[in-house]
Amino acid sequence: MKMVSSGEIRVLKAIRSDGPVSRRDLPELTGLAAGTITLITADLLRRGFITEKREATGQSGRPRVFLEIREDGPIVLGATLTENGALRTTFVDLSGNIRFGTEIETGIGVAGSLDDLAEAVGRTLEAAIEASGCDRKDIERIGLSLPALVDSDQGVIHFMMTFPQTPFPFAKVVSARLGLPVTLENHMSCLARAEHWFGQAKGLDSFTLIHIGPAIGSAQYFAGMPRTGVHGIAPQIGHVKTARGDDAARCYCGAHGCATAYASIYGMVQQAGLVDGFDIAPAQQAELFGQLVARASEGDEAMLEVVERGAAHLALLAADIVIATDPGVILVTVPDARCIELMRGRFDEVFRAHLVPGVASLTEVRFAVALPDWEAKGAAALALERVRQ
Ligand SMILES: [Zn+2]
Repeated sequence: MKMVSSGEIRVLKAIRSDGPVSRRDLPELTGLAAGTITLITADLLRRGFITEKREATGQSGRPRVFLEIREDGPIVLGATLTENGALRTTFVDLSGNIRFGTEIETGIGVAGSLDDLAEAVGRTLEAAIEASGCDRKDIERIGLSLPALVDSDQGVIHFMMTFPQTPFPFAKVVSARLGLPVTLENHMSCLARAEHWFGQAKGLDSFTLIHIGPAIGSAQYFAGMPRTGVHGIAPQIGHVKTARGDDAARCYCGAHGCATAYASIYGMVQQAGLVDGFDIAPAQQAELFGQLVARASEGDEAMLEVVERGAAHLALLAADIVIATDPGVILVTVPDARCIELMRGRFDEVFRAHLVPGVASLTEVRFAVALPDWEAKGAAALALERVRQ
């Protein structure tokens, strides 16, 4: 595997967002020389990533040739584990269109090892490919996104809740079984990629994502590519402390005062007193959060206070990110559109108050509902970012 060059990425992005485009338009759209464009597009055509479409331009001239992302080209599988231990697999073309999807029980128990999980995921992917009727040679790549601490470069899991904590070469094991390239990554990198190629971060080469999910998640893009640390690990900012002192809220990670304990779905549901303790299924959390947001929207003051406190902690976190990394744009993705209206005012107030004057205005903060099918879209774009040699 190799990362595609930045020139190829620029051409693919231009064709993806402005296509169909002619070769003549590409120098202006990408900043690359015409000769480079010719070489890159020839290579992308050969690999089946893009296709040519001829269009008549009138009585006289030759038909103009336009380039677009090829819909009948390679397929990529996006796979993710559900809360109930099933594997949700989506077969996507490079345009992000879903061709086939299935959800199959992995049969993995809570007491299993990561070895057992890799075996179960491999077996389940085999079954999904079989069910799809897809030819294996058309599959470009499998993108596995897991709620775990992963080194995406090496495909290694460093930590996953309920499993023994030893580094495990998960991608290599699954890839060897299936004979297909497998990329392992954290959920949040997948969401950031989906937003970058298809959603609210389209056209932004650099941005930081903060996602309000069961926990607070995050990921970064820099110069058009996902940015991870030295060990290929995405940032874990949800457990940055935004409260200190004896009354700081306890987080499920065991520490006190994490942003997640105030601003995540789990944190807000806890703060509202709708649930006691940490052992609560994500589906139930989401339902209780829906009730919380509905009550806050109707003017219930106690619930409004919880959501605004969440917004304040989120703003403290965002301000720290700006101070530490100068991200340019912060995209906050929320689970429910009503959150935007409920949180934005308090967020802006706290965000500005915690930054040196002038710095706040250099950073654009966007709030949006996360793309509903981000797992599939993120997997499709994974194949656009990484190609087989
Ligand atoms: Zn925590």
